[in-house]
Amino acid sequence: MTDADGSVGKVYLVGSGPGDPDLLTVKAKRLLETADVVLHDKLPGPEILGQIPEEKREDVGKRAGGEWTPQEYTNARMVELAREGKTVVRLKGGDPTVFGRGGEEMVHLAQNEIPFEVVPGITSAIAGPEAAGIPVTHRDYVSSVSFVTGHEDPTKEESAVDWAALADTGGTIVVLMGVGKLPGYTAELRKAGMDPETPVALIERATWPDQRVATGTLDTIVDVRDSEGIEPPAITVIGDVAGERDRVLEFLEGA
Ligand code: SAH
Repeated sequence: MTDADGSVGKVYLVGSGPGDPDLLTVKAKRLLETADVVLHDKLPGPEILGQIPEEKREDVGKRAGGEWTPQEYTNARMVELAREGKTVVRLKGGDPTVFGRGGEEMVHLAQNEIPFEVVPGITSAIAGPEAAGIPVTHRDYVSSVSFVTGHEDPTKEESAVDWAALADTGGTIVVLMGVGKLPGYTAELRKAGMDPETPVALIERATWPDQRVATGTLDTIVDVRDSEGIEPPAITVIGDVAGERDRVLEFLEGA
């Protein structure tokens, strides 16, 4: 689809959903089939990435030495490819604008006058809990849900997440990027008066073939994380809804 007359291509910021290829949108699937280049990191997961022909893929995630590809490189690469007339898919895990830097990439493309479109995806913040039998709200007892990052920009001086205020809402708290900092924010929530018996679930690699779920309470979940060896990517769900899993467990396959 490269344009021979030198006209600019287009960038699609596409959400892959949580990892199960059946949870790609129809549009995402079509674009993955027709794009010239797919810029991706590891978060879309092995099954979806495995469906993209090797020659179309460019990994802009973690490099061999464990270093992240700088965001500036990804930004510049999208612009460069589009200026070559290419149709580019910038594939992101879940939804592109939920803690995915989609916002920054949109602005960069706009400022460089590159045509672009955002293709929403199913966020792991909702699909992750669901895959473990956990609804993020419940008509009887939870009427709000908050999505928060457990791992903020380390250069920020103060935490922008007000854990005490979140505890006060009484709603479900879903933490992304929250494996490493679990001891810190569970302690903050305890300090703010949240019941130590509040159910907590960790869903690792939700909807991937090797998904794992670990459950505990606000008091026990750090020990559970350590004994089960839960690692990123994982979702933390805090709230009474996490207890619903026990009620549906026997009907869940492989969760
Ligand atoms: N845009 C993504 C989130 C990017 S931030 C989305 O909407 O889902 C990266 C974090 O997302 C990870 O640290 C993890 O907390 C979460 N995450 C993404 N995919 C996941 C999956 N399949 N299973 C568990 N957590 C996932």
